[in-house]
Amino acid sequence: MSCPPAELKKKSDELRVKWDAFIASPSFGPFVEFAVCLSSFSEFLSGKGLSGLHQLSHGLEQQALSLFDEAARQQIPPGTLDDLRSQVEGLAARIDRFIDSNSRPVADRRAQPDAATASDLTPTHRIWLIGKTTDEWRALVTQLAYFGIQAEVYPWDNVPAQAKEPAILLLDTQGIVLEDACQHIKALRARFSASKLIAYQVAPDFNAIKAALGAGCDFCFADGTPQPVILAKVIELCSNEEEAPYRVLVVEDSLTASKSIQRTLKQNGIESLAVTRPHEVLTGLRSFAPDLILMDMYMPDCTGVEATRVIRQHAEFLSTPVIYLSGDGDIALQVDALRLGGEHFLTKPFNPVFLNAVVKSKIERYRALRRAMLHDSLTGLLNHATSKERLAAAVNTAKGANGPLAVAMIDIDHFKKINDNYGHPMGDQVIRSLAWLLKQRLRKTDIVGRYGGEEFLVVLPGSNADQAFDVLDRIRRDFSLIKYAFKDTCFEATFSAGVSHFPATACPHALIKDADEALYDAKHGGRNCVITRR
Ligand code: GH3
Ligand code: MG
Ligand code: MG
Ligand code: MG
Repeated sequence: MSCPPAELKKKSDELRVKWDAFIASPSFGPFVEFAVCLSSFSEFLSGKGLSGLHQLSHGLEQQALSLFDEAARQQIPPGTLDDLRSQVEGLAARIDRFIDSNSRPVADRRAQPDAATASDLTPTHRIWLIGKTTDEWRALVTQLAYFGIQAEVYPWDNVPAQAKEPAILLLDTQGIVLEDACQHIKALRARFSASKLIAYQVAPDFNAIKAALGAGCDFCFADGTPQPVILAKVIELCSNEEEAPYRVLVVEDSLTASKSIQRTLKQNGIESLAVTRPHEVLTGLRSFAPDLILMDMYMPDCTGVEATRVIRQHAEFLSTPVIYLSGDGDIALQVDALRLGGEHFLTKPFNPVFLNAVVKSKIERYRALRRAMLHDSLTGLLNHATSKERLAAAVNTAKGANGPLAVAMIDIDHFKKINDNYGHPMGDQVIRSLAWLLKQRLRKTDIVGRYGGEEFLVVLPGSNADQAFDVLDRIRRDFSLIKYAFKDTCFEATFSAGVSHFPATACPHALIKDADEALYDAKHGGRNCVITRR
C-alpha cells in the first residue's frame, strides 16, 4: 500500500483548514465539518496502513465525537478546546516529521518513468525483529527472505535511532515484565508512525494482551504461538493489497438530500451514483455495481420497501446490503423493510460521521463475505470455480485486445510423500508457502487460483509463452530453495508446471487441457521443471 507524501500532506492541511474555520467561527456547522474531515482522515490513515498516525488521529476523533452535544449547544469548555487544539497541532507536526524523515528520493524507487510523485511513504518489505537473537528467529529471517521480506534483528537496548521506518516491528517480550514491555511499546509507537507493531510471546492472559494493545500494538501473539502463524501474519501484512474504493448507489427522490449524502460519502473516499427515480434502480445496479444501496423510504409512486422487493427478485442482487433512509419512526414499515433483508435504518437528518461509519462497516462485512465465497480458505487464493471464471474473462479481454496470454498449471511434486513423511499440517504449510510465493512474485493483474489440493492455476494476461516460462522458472527455482523445518531437520519441496498460451490455443477449456498435458510431460520428464506446450 502506498501513500504519496503530497497526498498525506494535502489531507493533513485540509484538517487544519477545517479546524481553523471552526476556531474562527465556533458554531455547530464548522464543528461537524471538522469532525467529518477528521473521521475521513482517520480512515485514510488506517487504509494506508499508517498505524501510528492512525492511532493518534483516532484518539482525537473519539474525543471530537464525544463533544457533539456540547458543540450543538456551543458549550465546549475552553480547556477542552485548548486540549483539542494541541492534539490537532501535535498530529500535524508528527505528520510533517514523518514525511520529512521517510520520503525517499526518486532514485531509490523502482524505475517508474510515469510516476507522478517524487516518492512514497510505503515502507517496503523490511521488518525488524527486536529482542533476543535466537535460533528460532534466525530461521524466521531465512524463511522471510524467500518471500522477498528483509528482516533485521536488534536487541531491545540497541534499536537504531536513525532509520527509515520498517513495515513491521516484531517485538519479543519474553523475559520482560509487562510494565516494562508496555513502556518499550509506547516509546516505539511514538517513534514509528507507519510501522505495524506486533508483540510476540505475550503472556496468554486477557490483561497482558489488553495492556500491550493499549500501549500501541497492532497485534499480539501469545507465548508459544508457532512460527508459521507469525510468518503468515508478517506475509499478510507485507502483501496488503490496496482495496478498490467502496461504491454506494443512492436512491433518493430529493435532489438536495442526495447531493448532501453524496458529498458526505465523497469526503470519506466512497464513490457514489445517485438515482432519483426508483424505476432506474436496476440500471444503476447493473452499470455501477455498488457494494451497498442507500434507499430513501418515501418516494413518489414507490416506497423504499417496494423498490427493494423488486431488486431482490434478481439473484445477482440478493445479498447487496440496503440501508434505508427514513424521515420518521414508522415501525410497521421498518419491520417490513428489515424482513426484506434491510440492513439498517438511518433517520433523517443523520449525523454524517455516523452515516459514514454504518455504510463502511456494512460494506466491509459484505466484501468479507464475498471474499470468503470467491477465495480458498487455506491459501486466500481464488478458488477453483472463480479462477476458471477469471480465466474465461481474461481470454475474452485478450481476444478483444488481440494480445497474448499464458496459462500455467502447477502441481507440487511427490506431495503424498510430504504428507506421509511430515504430516498433513506440514503439507498444508507447503501449499500455503507456494501460494504466498506466487502472490508475491506475480503481478496484481495476474490470476492465481488454487485449482485443487496441491494444484494451482496461473493466468498471465499480456505474457507470451517465453515470458511466462521465464517468470515461472524463476519461481520454481526459488520455491525449491525454501526450507521447511521439521523436528531437528528440514526438507525442501519442488513443483512442476505446464504452460499453454493464447492465441496458439484459443479457448479457456483448451488452454487448461494443454497446460495440463504439458504438466504431465514435466512430471514424466523428471519433475521440478516447467514445460511449455508449443
Ligand atoms: P506428483 O509428483 O506426481 O504430483 O505426485 P503427488 O504425490 O503430488 O501426487 P498427487 O498430485 O496425485 O497427490 C496429491 C496429494 O495431495 C493427495 C492428497 O492426499 C494431498 N492433498 C490434497 N489436498 C491437500 C491439502 O489440502 N492438504 C494436504 N496436506 N494434502 C492435500
Ligand atoms: Mg423521499
Ligand atoms: Mg496433484
Ligand atoms: Mg502432486
